[in-house]
Amino acid sequence: LELFATPIKGKNESIVGAVVVLHDVSKWRRVEQMRTEFVANVSHELRTPITAVRGFAETLLDGALEDPEMRKQFIKIIYEESDRLSRLVNDLLELSKIESGHAVLQFEVCEMNNLVKTTVDKLVHQAGQNGLTLEAHVPEEPIFAEVAKDRISQVLINLIANAIVYTSEGGRIDVYLEEAEDRVTVRVQDTGIGIPKEDLPRLFERFYRVDKARARRSGGTGLGLAIVKHIVEAHEGTVDVQSTVGKGSTFSFSLPKRQL
Ligand code: ADP
Repeated sequence: LELFATPIKGKNESIVGAVVVLHDVSKWRRVEQMRTEFVANVSHELRTPITAVRGFAETLLDGALEDPEMRKQFIKIIYEESDRLSRLVNDLLELSKIESGHAVLQFEVCEMNNLVKTTVDKLVHQAGQNGLTLEAHVPEEPIFAEVAKDRISQVLINLIANAIVYTSEGGRIDVYLEEAEDRVTVRVQDTGIGIPKEDLPRLFERFYRVDKARARRSGGTGLGLAIVKHIVEAHEGTVDVQSTVGKGSTFSFSLPKRQL
């Protein structure tokens, strides 16, 4: 609370009363604090790849260029880090567009069975390369929903891409499409490393990671799930996660079939 008080003076400058104004600034403070934290996070995330690119370029210029082995290895790192940088900037722009409401979602009636199948098909090869089986399970009956097609496909891609990263060789990823009354639900179930209970509530926050080192090696930006949540909420939908360490995780999102 913020407090302002002004005395009310009567004759002879005597104080006869006071005006007291109380302002509840706690919400504003929280927003301010979140913004400050976000800027600090972004700066840190940007600085890491930039430092790597600069460091390796410098070492090359200082003589490592002469060594063909080192040259190749360092240029590979520079390429990968600049690639991460550009994905990070893209993800940040995407997030801020959705958040500010500037991203106009093109809602259209869409057959979800097909959307799920074609999106899964795009990632089957990548899953296979990682020694994983990826399968879509959709009902025979067509399920129609009013969605922004490309965005929902993006949501599914982010969830499956995570399942690929956090599941070891020989594992499975199963994607289910289901409907219940006026809602449609998509579930991505993996047999991966799982997530500790205490991390679950914060998973959809920007830059929140369970295992920083592992997430970094995977090349992730830490924004995948934040984007998922934003897109789903722009559809008046909800996200959910259930997980057991060592057994696997199930991420799901549920959307109303009709937008109001
Ligand atoms: P990242 O780029 O780090 O993957 P995300 O926002 O996509 O960022 O995910 C946030 C964190 O959630 C990840 O760093 C990881 O710790 C955890 N996570 C996401 N999906 C899974 C999954 N399928 N299995 C285990 N952990 C996961």
